[in-house]
Amino acid sequence: MNAEQIKKLAREMGADLVGIAPIERFENVPMNENPAQIKPDAKSVIILAFRILRGALRGIENGSNWGSYTASDPSGMCTYMQEVTYHFARELEDNGFEAVPLIRHSYDLRDKGVPVAPDRAAPDVIIDMEYAAYLAGLGEMGMGKLFLTPQFGPRQVFTAVLTDLELEADPVFEGTLCDKCGKCAEACPAKALDTCRSCGTLPHWPLRTESCKICPTGTSPRPYSLGLEPNRIGAACGRACVKHFEERRK
Ligand code: SF4
Ligand code: SF4
Repeated sequence: MNAEQIKKLAREMGADLVGIAPIERFENVPMNENPAQIKPDAKSVIILAFRILRGALRGIENGSNWGSYTASDPSGMCTYMQEVTYHFARELEDNGFEAVPLIRHSYDLRDKGVPVAPDRAAPDVIIDMEYAAYLAGLGEMGMGKLFLTPQFGPRQVFTAVLTDLELEADPVFEGTLCDKCGKCAEACPAKALDTCRSCGTLPHWPLRTESCKICPTGTSPRPYSLGLEPNRIGAACGRACVKHFEERRK
């Protein structure tokens, strides 16, 4: 199976976007989030993206229906993402390769167990899905800590499959999607995004996630993710970014 066949298969099974990173790109990633710790013989990290429907935000925008978002947000519909990712991984195994399906888990689960050897990470190793998506060429992290793709702006969530199948890699994304407009930060009633000038070298502005966990503007909790901020696309910050992309016809 080559990269083109793999991507076609994943899209046919229900993923909206597919990106491939060689395992070598994770060489400098800390052990407790490094996929090579989970599957040392992995050659490729395949990232699947699932879109959050545009229409799912309308009820929140109109102040009339929050349920349309949680019912349509794939991170809320976790079983759908899990099923697609599982069946995709199963197809890989049916074709003679080994595949580890991964969904987004709480970072709180890192370093809870005992390493099996001095040179191994303490379980659980939890990969950073957004960083993996970046390494797989799918997009970039916006300054509002919203991962952006050319296809959907901030409207997607990710899963991953580690495999010993060597595949042609996608180039790391080199475009610029975030124009640092600051609209995500301006829209936040809690001022949870610090748009400090001295933060220019950081990959995104600092985010006070404790505010996001109680944000009433349209967040939805992530399954299994006590240690993560909730999904913020439906919240004021995420919706401001969506609107900004649409105004720029991106
Ligand atoms: S709203 Fe503007 S600054 Fe914030 S992530 Fe989107 S493009 Fe970047
Ligand atoms: S989720 Fe709420 S509190 Fe957090 S940045 Fe967005 S609008 Fe602000």
